[in-house]
Amino acid sequence: MAQDFSSTYILNDLRRCTRCTIPETHETVVFDEQGVCNICKNIEYKHTQVDWDDRKKQLLELVEQYRGKGPYDCIVPFSGGKDSTFTLWYIMRELGLKPLVVSFDHSFYRPKTIENNERTQRKLGIDFLKFRSDWKIVRKLMLESLKRKGDFDWHAHVGCFVYPMQIAVKFRIPLLFWGESSAEYTAYYNYAEIEEVDERRHHRINDLGISAEDMVGFLGGAVTMRDMEPYIYPSSQELRQLGVRSVCLGSYIPWDVKKHYEIIHRELDWQGDQVEGVPPQYPYEKVEYQLQGPRDYLKFIKRGYARTTHLTSIDIRNGRRTRDEAKELIEKYEGKRPASLDYLLPILGISEKEWREIALAQAIPPYQHDFSREQNDEPLWDMKLWEWNPQ
Ligand SMILES: [Zn+2]
Repeated sequence: MAQDFSSTYILNDLRRCTRCTIPETHETVVFDEQGVCNICKNIEYKHTQVDWDDRKKQLLELVEQYRGKGPYDCIVPFSGGKDSTFTLWYIMRELGLKPLVVSFDHSFYRPKTIENNERTQRKLGIDFLKFRSDWKIVRKLMLESLKRKGDFDWHAHVGCFVYPMQIAVKFRIPLLFWGESSAEYTAYYNYAEIEEVDERRHHRINDLGISAEDMVGFLGGAVTMRDMEPYIYPSSQELRQLGVRSVCLGSYIPWDVKKHYEIIHRELDWQGDQVEGVPPQYPYEKVEYQLQGPRDYLKFIKRGYARTTHLTSIDIRNGRRTRDEAKELIEKYEGKRPASLDYLLPILGISEKEWREIALAQAIPPYQHDFSREQNDEPLWDMKLWEWNPQ
């Protein structure tokens, strides 16, 4: 298969989808005989095979079963990023539901997101519940998951999915609306099915194969099961008794991040931001998380690609960007060392040398990272405002 991607540090020798450029190191990716990936095929299915009018009908039937039955019609898990903000807007303005908005605070919100969240809450008028778990425990979990899985975000992945489920049980609210379907970016699920955001999906996608019990064991007495309360998925018996439906809005309406960004910008004055390793053409992407730069940089060290490839691949699938344009953006923005790594390393309590060793140990073959060819990225405008007290 002819490759139009040169062998440079950024556009390395990895085999890539001949359509969207996603490389062979992407989770769940498989190529067909033409070299087209399964995610491209799934998005083609989304555009040509899914009966979206019928899906919308299914959505309306679903919400009518729950509307007005209790103090709240549903839960919307909320980070304040583009997807959960759009989901909340849609649930209220298009479906006329009354949600309880539930937010797990991962301790790393950026200033503009905090302002966006305030504006969204005031403009829509909502009951809002925010929970932040113990910072000292968070730091321990971050280091442990980095060492075990090459991913320091276990607490965020797990907390954001588990906490709203716990609240569903505690407040007796059986319907939850998440944002986009995972089929939009990976092949764990496909668009032919209605994706249930349940414990099975949680173990497949979110928890990196590590349960709260595992963490207690790994940390050898440094944390207890009581400390892990925010990370324990409710029992299947509790969820069954409540009759929980936990679904993605993106299974029922065609997900289009660019369009959704325009809507929330216009309707809620939602403001984008600069993000490390992300071209300015995508001001809406992952703006909420201080550690997005290090998260994507870690992905690059392990897999040889990061967020610019991800974003341009979506545009290519949607017919909004050519491969050559994507290539130019990837070369320019991807794979740099983010300045915010200097913020993260003291939180983890490790040196950069240890960081590199841990990352390399989790590398996905055939990619091999070359630190000597890296460039440094510029610090974000707000990094100086981020608060962290090492005590
Ligand atoms: Zn593809």
